[in-house]
Amino acid sequence: MSLEAKVLSGAADCIFCRIVSGEIAAQVVYEDKQTIAFNDVNPVAPVHVLVIPRAHSPAVKAIDDAGLAALLHSAHQVAALKGVAESGYRLVFNLGDDGGQTVFHTHLHVLGGRRMTWPPG
Ligand code: AMP
Repeated sequence: MSLEAKVLSGAADCIFCRIVSGEIAAQVVYEDKQTIAFNDVNPVAPVHVLVIPRAHSPAVKAIDDAGLAALLHSAHQVAALKGVAESGYRLVFNLGDDGGQTVFHTHLHVLGGRRMTWPPG
């Protein structure tokens, strides 16, 4: 299925929109006017937080410059709050099938607390 088709099929019942609305519980780490950051339910690192825009947006390519800046600002706040600002961390956007995207509401992964490997799997 194309990214555009997934965007359309996912927008009507978006799990991250339900977290924004409070319908689904999440462990919120940080929030501001434009974004919310919460622990990933299936962490792949000691620190694994997802930063999302409050407004539904299916994939990072649909986010404007101000939205991107807001996501990055939140990610850096999360890193500081989680104690990995000095040790380092990785920021990841997965996009589309080959990128490994599974949830079609833009999210930025903040990964830290261990040494990351390269290349990623
Ligand atoms: P991606 O594969 O980049 O689309 O990442 C989606 C991420 O969302 C995965 O790491 C999932 O573990 C995470 N996820 C899915 N549902 C939830 C949820 N209800 N609360 C927190 N994280 C979730």
